[in-house]
Amino acid sequence: MIWDELESALGEIDAAGLRRRRRTLAAPCGPLAVVDGKPLISFCSNDYLGLAADQALIAAACAGAQAWGVGSGASHLVSGHQSPHQALEEKLAAFTGFARALLLSAGYMANLAIVPALVGRGDAVFADKLNHASLIDAVQLSRADSQRYSHGDLAMLERLLAKSTARRKLIVTDAVFSMDGDLAPLPGLLELAERYDAWLVIDDAHGFGVLGEHGRGTLAHYAIDPNNPRLVYMGTLGKAAGASGAFIAASQQVIEWLLQRARTYIFTTGASPLIACALLASIDLIAADEERRTHLRELAEQLRAGLAATRWQLLPSPTAIQPVIIGDNHEALHVAGALYERGFWVPAIRPPTVPKGTARLRVSLSAAHTAEQVAALVAALQDLA
Ligand SMILES: *Cc1c(COP(=O)(O)O)cnc(C)c1O
Repeated sequence: MIWDELESALGEIDAAGLRRRRRTLAAPCGPLAVVDGKPLISFCSNDYLGLAADQALIAAACAGAQAWGVGSGASHLVSGHQSPHQALEEKLAAFTGFARALLLSAGYMANLAIVPALVGRGDAVFADKLNHASLIDAVQLSRADSQRYSHGDLAMLERLLAKSTARRKLIVTDAVFSMDGDLAPLPGLLELAERYDAWLVIDDAHGFGVLGEHGRGTLAHYAIDPNNPRLVYMGTLGKAAGASGAFIAASQQVIEWLLQRARTYIFTTGASPLIACALLASIDLIAADEERRTHLRELAEQLRAGLAATRWQLLPSPTAIQPVIIGDNHEALHVAGALYERGFWVPAIRPPTVPKGTARLRVSLSAAHTAEQVAALVAALQDLA
């Protein structure tokens, strides 16, 4: 029976140290979490700039709810596209330098929007092996031929592109890899896209707001011109931007095509207008408040310096994502558990989120952390070593 099969499959998940459990927080998103009455310093969230519970965003969301209500009531193409949504799209396009932007309710949905709308059977997608699950699913959904290249391996990608006879070619990559914190070689990828007549789709979930001048993202970090018609950019709004949702930015034609064809844009209710209002305030803060990014960089340097001489080896990440590779699933859980006992909440990330044998602690820093909190984590890790 199917029930027994599920029961034994769940047993196997337990045996492999892969059972996932949720913890219910009794506090807003921030460095101080409360779980089961226990106060914890949290290094879990992707709220890299500390905006998720920022007073300016809260005020904008409250004013937005007063002016526009809570729900949009329909999909954007029917009657769910309100002035705050339109203003936010225009602001995001101007901020990132693209001709036009399209707002979606989640990054997952945005990736599922892009790939199947641009390629189908007979086309080919070239994907970095460490891409986010939503990009992997997007490629499957498109029915295009899927070719994966080793992480950041431009030579391997070039061999695959040179061999391909596909009509349309799409290179898809995370800009900042979500579990490693390293950057994709975007200039090299763009050069290959030019040479082999391909499109380049960039998922900047972890770079938008954090990297580049004014936090404009990983393209700005590399000084890549957003007016290149081969670029399709995706940024999420639930991480550094502190709320929820995502946007796609590209040329006028690509955005118009997505608006006509992307099923995860068309067949879903428009984002809440109060979220759009909060995000309008968030983009202003991201652009203006350089101090948050400076503080975040300093915290990353502090953590790296503090762990440099210990057994805890960090991956070479220039971002807010600082993973400590442990390897074994059970050991990763054990270390995370020991930290938890000491009042530090650091997630153990295990397969299938990361490749087998690379279970890790994913330390995620935020501008809302203090230097004292990072020093306390370093001390606890040194003690556990
Ligand atoms: C978080 C994430 C997404 C999904 O974005 P949501 O808005 O959370 O759905 C997509 N891509 C990457 C790389 C991510 O880290």
